[in-house]
Amino acid sequence: MSDPLNPTDHIETLAVHAGGDPDPVTGAVVPPIQMSATFKQDGVGGTRSGFEYGRTDNPTRRALEEAIAALENGAHGIAYASGLAATQNIFYLLEPGDRLLVTDDAYGGTWRLAEQVWQRYGVQVDSVDLCDLEALAAKLSAEGGPPRMVWVETPTNPLLKVVDISLVARLAAASGALTVVDSTFATPYLQRPLELGADLVIHSATKYLGGHSDVVGGLVATRRDDLAERLRFHQNAAGAVPSPFDCWLVMRGLRTLAVRMERASASAAAIAEWLTRRPEVSAVNYPGLADHAQRELAERQMRRPGAMVSFVVSDVAGGEARARRFVAATRLFTLAESLGAVESLIELPAVMTHLSVAHTALAVPPSLVRLSVGIENVDDLMADLDSAFAASADA
Ligand SMILES: *Cc1c(COP(=O)(O)O)cnc(C)c1O
Repeated sequence: MSDPLNPTDHIETLAVHAGGDPDPVTGAVVPPIQMSATFKQDGVGGTRSGFEYGRTDNPTRRALEEAIAALENGAHGIAYASGLAATQNIFYLLEPGDRLLVTDDAYGGTWRLAEQVWQRYGVQVDSVDLCDLEALAAKLSAEGGPPRMVWVETPTNPLLKVVDISLVARLAAASGALTVVDSTFATPYLQRPLELGADLVIHSATKYLGGHSDVVGGLVATRRDDLAERLRFHQNAAGAVPSPFDCWLVMRGLRTLAVRMERASASAAAIAEWLTRRPEVSAVNYPGLADHAQRELAERQMRRPGAMVSFVVSDVAGGEARARRFVAATRLFTLAESLGAVESLIELPAVMTHLSVAHTALAVPPSLVRLSVGIENVDDLMADLDSAFAASADA
């Protein structure tokens, strides 16, 4: 496919145009959804543009893969059926006996896959607070050899800690480890890990990239030809590929990524400030707040602090029981798992998204509430939270 983009094009432009050349035959401005599972060969092996079979490659999927490669400033994009399918495929780079070091406060499903599945196949799974560089250094020089892979997630879910990607990537590279960054919360609009030295960046496209809570998908981008080749081999060999329609939906979502992230981030910043003044709240986690432990780093590493906010309902105000009533009392914030879409969502991580890490080192406070701020009017959103605080006051 031709590439009408200039190297100087900004990410707002890339989001609208990357992977989206008009169809060469019809001129269709929006690339068509190619549902065909197989492709005619003009004589044995004579494919028309390299496409043979839908698991191996597909034009709609390829367009999306080109788009994520461009947005992450990488060389290769690889699409999967879900974020965890992408994670699984990255774990295929590990060998029995390898050590995998995962940031604490990682997405629960990432930890579950590492600990409950990969550990059974001989991968040694360990966790560390990647904001604590001394702890990381100790893990990197531990007896038994350094880890093969360091799994970064930043900002973290649901505590919104920010990890210094370039520093971790440098330390990991020096000890021979691959650095993978789960950048789902930030999107390439807010941060670009490959530019900071990460080997691989991964997204749950289900979240901001799709952006409308109507598709499940995963994407990986890299600059390294060797890693891309191995990932592509496993993409085909293991087969966890997204459908062409799902790829098209993610691509449609990508077109508005920049404007959605701008609006949602601005609203999240305002809501986070507002929450710090609420008597019911004992702590607010948002990388844009003055008292956030990694505020300066967030300012350096991210264009904006993002649109995810979490906060603790104080024990005096009713703690966990109050938090449970609160998340069920909102009108606009929908009580649901997932995040990153146009509509605002609310949830209780300890018993919803992070139930799989209960009673582990990655467990989260029971009265922690997580908000995924959407693109509704911010005053309406604050009024909604205000009403929910009032409505949840009495048991
Ligand atoms: C949702 C999520 C995943 C998993 O993605 P799925 O598309 O649900 O498989 C991984 N990492 C983070 C940070 C997520 O939020």
